[in-house]
Amino acid sequence: MKYITLNNGVKMPKLGYGVYQVTPEECVRCVEDALRVGYRLIDTAQSYDNEYEVGKAIQQSGVPRQHIFLTTKIWMANSGYEKACQSIDDSLRRLQTDYIDLMLIHQPFGDYYGTYRAMEDAYKAGKLRAIGVSNFFGDRLVDLCHTVEVMPAVDQVETHIFHQQQQLSTIMKRYGVVHEAWGPFAEGRKNFFINPALQKIATVHHKTTAQIALRFLLQKDIVVIPKSVHCERMIQNLDVFDFSLTAEEMQRLKRFDSDDSAFFSHYDPDMVESFYRLSEVRNLRI
Ligand code: NAP
Repeated sequence: MKYITLNNGVKMPKLGYGVYQVTPEECVRCVEDALRVGYRLIDTAQSYDNEYEVGKAIQQSGVPRQHIFLTTKIWMANSGYEKACQSIDDSLRRLQTDYIDLMLIHQPFGDYYGTYRAMEDAYKAGKLRAIGVSNFFGDRLVDLCHTVEVMPAVDQVETHIFHQQQQLSTIMKRYGVVHEAWGPFAEGRKNFFINPALQKIATVHHKTTAQIALRFLLQKDIVVIPKSVHCERMIQNLDVFDFSLTAEEMQRLKRFDSDDSAFFSHYDPDMVESFYRLSEVRNLRI
């Protein structure tokens, strides 16, 4: 496994396993499989409703806790100082651990400044080894960086060949924030896995389109957390450290950037409203 060093000296695996849309029923088996085949970063969130199963799988895996980098995210229903403090303790309990390696603010909505203060306090208390944000675009990230005591270590945003976040990545570098990609395959949208350009490069390297897509991001120093419920795909997605893309191939893939989300815009007011509606109905297991 390759590691990247965060701005507070903590080492984070460059490739991890994401459990969004992994049901509680499947999650223990999936995380156990992922740890058994070599993953050492697990990415969950309060809103995925599987923190308890992630914790259970870690307990059962036999992999020492200190060898695992565990990320979770504070959902917007828990935004604001008081609620965020409580929700950090709730996540610790569900994950059955006394520290979380990386806690992120999931969405840039609600009282996320209050949430950030709660994370800073939990960081100082040793409950969190690193803190950061997710889905914070340039304007909000820069503003946040100017108000905090502990700089965010990571910003996790949608990133794949069709949405490379080049401008945001430059801002992250300027503030010492590590760029982490969610949806590195755009969840298969836009015929991702049968993209002819990816297929052509994959043939040359005797790899799959998925592996080329991950390698492209890794070579740009972007942390990736692909999700799969299939063990053979987990193995495949991890097997990306024995080859390199050439400068010309990197350049060719760079041209696929449409600078547009494959999902939705965080700047769309209807979308923000639907996030609030979702937040009201989602009833997290305590
Ligand atoms: P993704 O990793 O881009 O794509 C997952 C999809 O690709 C699944 O349908 C999976 O199918 C398929 N797949 C995986 N490996 C494959 C392979 N080698 N060949 C063919 N198909 C393959 O999507 P994602 O789950 O949205 O993103 C990854 C992680 O990022 C999440 O799990 C979550 O931890 C995080 N995330 C964060 C946010 C945020 O707001 N911060 C948002 C979304 C996601 P199978 O499972 O059937 O194999």
